[in-house]
Amino acid sequence: MERFGESLVKTIWIGDVQNGQHTDQTVELKGWVKRSRGNNNIWFVVLRDSTGTIQCVGKKKALGEAVFETLKGAIIETSVVFTGHVRADERAEGGHELDIANVEIVGAVNSERPFPITEADMLVEDEDGELTYGGTEHTLNHRHLYLRTTRATTMLKLRSSAFGAIHNYFRGHDFLEYQAPNFVAGAVEGGSTLFEVPYFGKQAYLTQSWQLYAEAAMPALERLYTIAPSFRAEKSRTRRHLTEFWHAEMEMAWATNNDIMAHGEGVVRSIAKTLLEEREDELTYLERDLEMIARYADSPYPRMRYDEAIEILQGKDVSVEWGQDLDYSKEKILTQDFDVPHFLTHYPKVAKPFYHRVDPEDEKYVLCHDLLAPEGYGEIIGGGERTWSEQEILQRIDEEGTPREPYQFYIDVRSYGGVPHGGFGLGVDRVVSWLAGATHIREVIPFPRTSRRVTP
Ligand code: ATP
Ligand code: MN
Repeated sequence: MERFGESLVKTIWIGDVQNGQHTDQTVELKGWVKRSRGNNNIWFVVLRDSTGTIQCVGKKKALGEAVFETLKGAIIETSVVFTGHVRADERAEGGHELDIANVEIVGAVNSERPFPITEADMLVEDEDGELTYGGTEHTLNHRHLYLRTTRATTMLKLRSSAFGAIHNYFRGHDFLEYQAPNFVAGAVEGGSTLFEVPYFGKQAYLTQSWQLYAEAAMPALERLYTIAPSFRAEKSRTRRHLTEFWHAEMEMAWATNNDIMAHGEGVVRSIAKTLLEEREDELTYLERDLEMIARYADSPYPRMRYDEAIEILQGKDVSVEWGQDLDYSKEKILTQDFDVPHFLTHYPKVAKPFYHRVDPEDEKYVLCHDLLAPEGYGEIIGGGERTWSEQEILQRIDEEGTPREPYQFYIDVRSYGGVPHGGFGLGVDRVVSWLAGATHIREVIPFPRTSRRVTP
């Protein structure tokens, strides 16, 4: 490894080798040992890098005793550089094999402390007794190592493509990327999920949403978006709540509830389309139905009023009363019959906070929407029109009994040239979880934060 002044940059990727780009060439493969086995004369190593895996074969006769022993010592997760010859082989997984000519160990693994994650740790009962991937105390304690498993790596690749798709969608529709503070003074989503932070003798909170600060810049930028973490002290343990999640939010001047829904539909469809274009292999590995994902990418998303959803639920003998917000147990029942995401609109005013605009046609309702994902995944977007006149916002704040003081800046936005506007928040982890068919939201974020865990 004496390579000062030289470059270590990789030029040969296992994915490309498997695509046939290096067949019959001598190459240098850099990666990690995924599995190995063999006998005294021949040794098989499955080598992985971020792009794929390939079986590599070392024969004692060709390598000599010393190199062969080095190869055998490269146990799981040892990092290595193999030099060898690429051979096409129909029987090999991926279609190619490497005949090893030389072995260099980069980072050895101590055989007394072998890699702690095995196949037996993958799909098992988790902390809550549910069958999920990677959810045992053991795997969660070793999350930093669990990330190297094929399943976790696959999820992270889908996640990366989803983030890219969101940026492309908004930038492609003339939205400007805009950042809000993460230390804030007031709640967006109800006080019960606020994280309190001591702040130089005062009290601050971690932001639950970018929205209020985005509205402040709405008259400046008109169309803005972000992808940023939001924080909510979610005490209940569900498969779709994190305490720190990635929130893609948009705010738009001169827009109705319908205009905003069109962008919600647009961005979700474009995430599905991007995953099909960039991550077909990963979706296939996860045994996702590609035609179903194509439907998510191509079909319009139907819209249904809250009242209609209540009727459907009551028709299924679900005990639910008009005026209640729909929790997951209800969304799940509702979405089981859906084959594409559906919007629920016009929730009762009593179920929603002050910033939702009251429907001028019927004051019992607000002009809002939730987008519910099928397959039982439930809400992935919440949004709507904002209360935009000064008079209405003061009335709604007072009606709710919310103090005006922390929201003075928010009220000012209305006092100086308020205009109709709105936006939405999309839970990126939830969307990836649904499109990946994950067993739990924590599968799609590298270091999940929940009420029970901030480590590692
Ligand atoms: P829920 O009722 O499921 O808790 P919410 O109504 O609190 O959701 P919003 O405040 O509308 O959600 O937030 C916008 C989006 O952010 C949601 O549609 C969801 O996709 C995502 N989201 C909200 N809370 C969480 C969380 N704790 N973990 C992951 N994603 C979340
Ligand atoms: Mn919530």
